[in-house]
Amino acid sequence: MSEKPELTGSSGSAGSSGRAEESGDKFQNPVAGFGVTFKAMFKKRLTEQYPETPKVTAPRFHGRHQLNRHPDGLEKCVGCELCAWACPADAIYVEGADNTEEERYSPGERYGRVYQINYARCILCGLCIEACPTRALTMTNEFELANTTRESLIYTKDELLAGLQEGMVDSPHAIYPGMDEQDYYRGVVTEAAAGTVRQTAVSKGEGDKPDEDPIESTRAADATRHDKGVDA
Ligand code: SF4
Ligand code: SF4
Repeated sequence: MSEKPELTGSSGSAGSSGRAEESGDKFQNPVAGFGVTFKAMFKKRLTEQYPETPKVTAPRFHGRHQLNRHPDGLEKCVGCELCAWACPADAIYVEGADNTEEERYSPGERYGRVYQINYARCILCGLCIEACPTRALTMTNEFELANTTRESLIYTKDELLAGLQEGMVDSPHAIYPGMDEQDYYRGVVTEAAAGTVRQTAVSKGEGDKPDEDPIESTRAADATRHDKGVDA
């Protein structure tokens, strides 16, 4: 014969001990809750006082990008577009152009004429800086990139280019006399040569004469079109 299971329920000694435990919990639970509060009063506060006290990021934090310069102020970017091709978010736009002796932005043959990063797309993954062959592109610790318009989230070369430090002359300017591009990467050039002056940035429209006669310039343009056989 099988034994009958013992019934537990509302009657008997089991029921009275259950009620006692229940009333004990009613008293202990609030006390335990206040205990947590009491212990937290003596712990170090975790509240961030941002933006009054800006957060200090880890040294290798991935923040806003920077386009670096050589020690004499020439730009490291050679306009190769490798960063743009490496970007999984299609956030970088680069247009390269040729340097000339009259308007030189980098020691080599080419430079980045147009450079844009769209921070509405960028996920700050850092793949672009891994792809850059000249260490022209690195990332800073700046993280305050939020803005209210899409246009303002597209950073242009002027905004991304590193500032001038001591011994630098703003680009465009001539290469250090007697040096070649390789010397720049060997670290031989440590500052701008004495007497280095900034060249006129003709490609940016700085070469236009402000007092140019508009009638004369129109005539010159008409003559050019006529020579090429193009109708106005
Ligand atoms: S950090 Fe990543 S997402 Fe942002 S531009 Fe570089 S490769 Fe593209
Ligand atoms: S930042 Fe580097 S990878 Fe990008 S175009 Fe310039 S040199 Fe090339």
